[in-house]
Amino acid sequence: MTQEDDEATMVNVIKTDSDIYIIDPNGSGRGTSVYLIVGRDEIALIDPGSSFFTNYVLEGIERLNIDPTDITHILLTHVHLDHCGNVGALLPKMSNADVFVHERGVKHLINPSKLVKSAKQGWGDEATKKVYGGDEIIPVPENRIIAIKEGDIIDIGEGNDLRVIYAPGHASHQVCFFNESRKSLFAGDAAQTYNPLTDRLILNTPPPFNLDLSVKTIERLMDLEIDVLYFAHFGPYIYPKRILKAVLEELDDFGEWVKNEWIKSKNIDEMADKRIDEWVRLIPDADPSFMHQRLRSNIIGYLTYFGLM
Ligand SMILES: [Zn+2]
Repeated sequence: MTQEDDEATMVNVIKTDSDIYIIDPNGSGRGTSVYLIVGRDEIALIDPGSSFFTNYVLEGIERLNIDPTDITHILLTHVHLDHCGNVGALLPKMSNADVFVHERGVKHLINPSKLVKSAKQGWGDEATKKVYGGDEIIPVPENRIIAIKEGDIIDIGEGNDLRVIYAPGHASHQVCFFNESRKSLFAGDAAQTYNPLTDRLILNTPPPFNLDLSVKTIERLMDLEIDVLYFAHFGPYIYPKRILKAVLEELDDFGEWVKNEWIKSKNIDEMADKRIDEWVRLIPDADPSFMHQRLRSNIIGYLTYFGLM
């Protein structure tokens, strides 16, 4: 999920554990969860967000009396622009931070043009600009990037070792960060997105989405011993198995629906029209036209995966 249509509002900072905070850039309580793990010597920022959020993230950090130069790690679950679009803008202020990203994502941080292109594929030009900042994404210098892969351990201080779990499906370069000792998982978008205000999952399957890999990733996550799953959108969830099972069902149901409807109409807008009322209820405070775009983008993700368009 992204910050879509929301006008800039109030940054909110939420403490979710002794040393884990959520910076909620627009204070909506259901958009983007920027996580901050505050160790004694190391401070990690996870998925700092879209290019619109640069100042809000800095404001959230300041509210915790943390200097941006104290940030040592910027961890990216994946390089979709709503997760990483502001990294290039934040780095000059976070002069002691390295950026950790899956090895397949490195080149896209250095040259974000493909990220913008694939966002446009799902959203169209105008919405991409509105939602992600469009072409104004600042590249990340190569010497600030550390490539990571399955099994790597990222040390961010005592009790906070994070194991990299390769988690393709939503994106081919996605990872989750697993804290084995605390049984917590920073899931990125592997478990889709969640709105705590309505207690509903919202699918997030823009192209190039891969259903088969998504399902395999979720099955793998279900085998981990997890007490808390941290959604990138939005917040911690304490019944991980239950929600992962629900994600599997929704992914499957939506796929069946897309296949059946495509045979009938072959018209993406008509398909989105059919479900828009239901989707508006998932995030009642969002702009319906944004939800329509989002639904379209999810449908296109499935159609592309099925080889139907
Ligand atoms: Zn994503």
